[in-house]
Parts: sequence; structure tokens; C-alpha cells
Amino acid sequence: MRRVSIFGATGSVGQSTIDLIARAPEAYEVVALTGGRNVARLAADARRLNARFAVTAHDECLNDLRAALDGTQIRAGAGQGALKEAAAMPADWVMSAIVGAAGLLPGLIALEQGATLALANKETLVCAGPLVMETARRHGATILPVDSEHSAAFQCLAGESAADVERLILTASGGAFRDWPLARLATATPEQAATHPNWVMGQRITIDSASMFNKALEVIEAKEFFGIEGERIEVLIHPESLIHAMVGHADGALMAHLGAPDMRHAIGYALNWPVRADLPVARLDLAEIGSLTFRRPDPARYPALDLARQVMARGGLAGAVLNAAKERALDAFIARDLPFTGMADAVAFALDRAEGEPGLIDAEFTLDSVLRADRMARDWADAYIHKQSV
Ligand code: NDP
Repeated sequence: MRRVSIFGATGSVGQSTIDLIARAPEAYEVVALTGGRNVARLAADARRLNARFAVTAHDECLNDLRAALDGTQIRAGAGQGALKEAAAMPADWVMSAIVGAAGLLPGLIALEQGATLALANKETLVCAGPLVMETARRHGATILPVDSEHSAAFQCLAGESAADVERLILTASGGAFRDWPLARLATATPEQAATHPNWVMGQRITIDSASMFNKALEVIEAKEFFGIEGERIEVLIHPESLIHAMVGHADGALMAHLGAPDMRHAIGYALNWPVRADLPVARLDLAEIGSLTFRRPDPARYPALDLARQVMARGGLAGAVLNAAKERALDAFIARDLPFTGMADAVAFALDRAEGEPGLIDAEFTLDSVLRADRMARDWADAYIHKQSV
């Protein structure tokens, strides 16, 4: 039996992971499941999968979790201490699917145990790529990408050397506002932004798809994971979302990975790797689909992409600054304290302030320096947002 833990089990990726595991319960021993406020879901899944430890990220939810697990042998925990404890429990395979920078620490601890980390939480590599990759190396741990684009590129690279890659192309649907007139973007509401043309995902990543901050994070994630320079990573709008990534080789060959927009594909690949198992995902009927279309992203519509380029060129802790400022800007947009178009401005402001803070971006990569950059970037983004709303 393989021992598995799922961080962010109550979310979109977490639930797709549970769907796959619940189809073959005899193959898995579920060590830990973690969630946030959705305690009822967490307890129901912990019961269904007979998990050993269920953890909510919020101390104030502990009593509800205990009550929901009453009569079982499942231990309940809450808060950062319990999340760290869950990450340190020996497991063979760990899904990292918490949303945001909060996913970094449990992932690092799981890597320190030598686990295989299935990485959906892109923020982990954006904020602390060198630290995360070095931790994996030091402890003989494996990281498998779960972001569909990175899983696709990983599969295109099987048996190839990343050093010979001429270009890596990440596709993007273009999000909810792909075809809106530019002038209308400033009026976009959180509800409108949270509608994705093809994928069903959590609210935050769906809004990040509309702003293209999701792709900005993915470009940085790809640079860190594959060790490919930012200049060789391209973004292409592909409204059908059927090709997830393409890898261009030195001889001009372009390898593409196609699949239905269903996260169980990438999750199942990471769960069964290096074996390919039968997965409950739709098979593509290309004759039925007929055509696939592509276009270049418009920099005026998607300023987040340019911010990602700046961050990759700058290096150091600039990724942690971009991500933290983006998280606060997204909170403010969802709370209607910032217009949709203000998110990129808030991030640019924080990056600018970070440049003026001696030693911040160029600090040595440690957990403390990443958390410091994260904290300061949140404060700068808040200052920008506050200035806009008074
Ligand atoms: P969701 O918002 O659906 O779920 C997030 C999960 O994290 C939930 O279990 C939530 O708990 C938990 N959570 C939220 N805040 C915290 C916190 N501060 N500490 C601990 N746990 C917390 O997100 P998604 O599943 O959409 O995305 C998860 C990650 O995977 C993100 O990094 C995203 O970018 C990435 N990803 C997602 C894809 C998708 O298809 N959804 C595709 C590729 C990557 P609760 O809900 O109980 O409060």
C-alpha cells in the first residue's frame, strides 16, 4: 500500500486527487488530509478514506472538526503546528494543493522526509524555487509537476534533455476577458472574472487566469522546475485549451501534449508515475473538434506577463515579492477594494519598492528570507491598495 497525504484536500485539485484515490482504496493508505474552512468536507473525506490525521489550517475550526470526526479513530488537528506535523508524517506521495504561499512550508517539510511531492501549488517554486529544488536534491526527494502545462511539458521532455530545448511554449486560454474590449476591463467584477471558458478550478486561480497572473506564475514555475531561461519560455493563447504545452527541440521538432481539460489527467500522471494507468478522463475526438487555434497574448491586456519577465530577469527573491503582492491585490479585487486592472499596478508598485530595499531581493535563499520578502510585499501592496481606495 502506498502512503499518501493530501494538502488542500478540500479544494478543487484536492477533490480531484481524492476522486482518483477513492477509485482504488485498496492501493492507498491515507496518512493526512488537510483543509481550511470546509471542515464538513474534510471530515467526510477523512472518514471515507480512513485517514489517520485530519487538519484544518484554522485554530477556530478545530472544535467543529473534532465534532465531525466523533466516533472515529481519526485524529484532528488545527493551525500551523498541525500542518507541519502532518507534513512530517512519513508518506510516499504527497499532494501539494493548498492555494497561495501558505503551501510552501508543508511542501518543504514533505521534501525533507524524502517524499515524492506532486506539486500543484505553483507558488512554491515561484517564491522559493532554488530553496525547494535544493531541498529535494539534498533529501533524495522527487518533485512531479501537477500544473497541467508543466505536467504536459514534463511528458514532452521524457527521454530528452532540458538543456537541448530551444523553446518551451505554455498555452493559455486567455481567461474570462480574452475577447472583451480593453476599455471595459476596469469595470470587471470578481464574479465575471471567476468564470473560466474551459477549466473548472478554485476561485482564486480562475481570476488569476483572467488577469494572466496564473500564466505569469507558471512561466516562473517552469523556469525554476525545468531550469530553462525565461527567454526560452513563451506563452501562446489557445482558446480550446486542448494542447497544454509544447516543447521545441534543437532540430526544430515541436512536441505537443494534448488532453481534455481535466486536472485528473495531470494528477493521475503524477500519482502513477512512471507508469501510465487508465484514467477516468475523456478521450479527444480530433475529427469532432475540427480545428485548434492560437494567437499571441496582447501585452496591454495581460500586463502580468511582462511583470513575470521582469521577475525572471531580476532573479533572487523577486518571485516571492510578485506572488505575495499578487495575493493581496487579488484579495482586494475580490473584496471590491481594487479594480481588476489595479492588480498589476499593485504588483508593479511592490516590485519597485522591493528594489529600493537594500539586500531584500538579493538575500540568500532561506525560508526566513522568503517569508520576509513575502511579508514586506504584502505590506507594500496593501499600502498601494489603501491609497487607491481613499
Ligand atoms: P482551491 O481554492 O479550490 O483550494 C485550496 C485549498 O487550500 C483548500 O483545501 C483550502 O481549504 C486550502 N487553503 C486555503 N487557504 C489555506 C491556508 N491559508 N492554509 C492552508 N490551507 C488553505 O484551490 P485549487 O485547488 O484551485 O488550487 C490549489 C493550488 O493548485 C493552487 O496553487 C493553484 O494555483 C494550483 N493549481 C490548481 C489548478 C486547478 O485546476 N484548480 C490547476 C493547476 C494548479 P478550504 O477550501 O477548506 O478553506
